[in-house]
Amino acid sequence: MSVTKPYNSRRGASCEDCGVETYPSEYYMVKDKIWDKAVPEDVDENRYIYLCIGCLEGRLGYSLTSKDFIKFPINNINSYTSDRLIDRLLSK
Ligand SMILES: [Zn+2]
Repeated sequence: MSVTKPYNSRRGASCEDCGVETYPSEYYMVKDKIWDKAVPEDVDENRYIYLCIGCLEGRLGYSLTSKDFIKFPINNINSYTSDRLIDRLLSK
């Protein structure tokens, strides 16, 4: 997979694939095994990668469900959480 990185040195949490700002509406953490499938091994480990829900699902090829997310405060639904992230966090 070739990925261009226009946001490489930028602060923020821009989606790696589409550039949309993921914070705070789609700021979440999934389990390592899910993330490892979506994000190739050869990316610079010192760099934080962000993906919006749509692009993460695009890489994985399926829709996320609640069991794909870790139990962590970052995944708590708040007033900023996007509708589709809420949908995934609640889906079984
Ligand atoms: Zn995206």
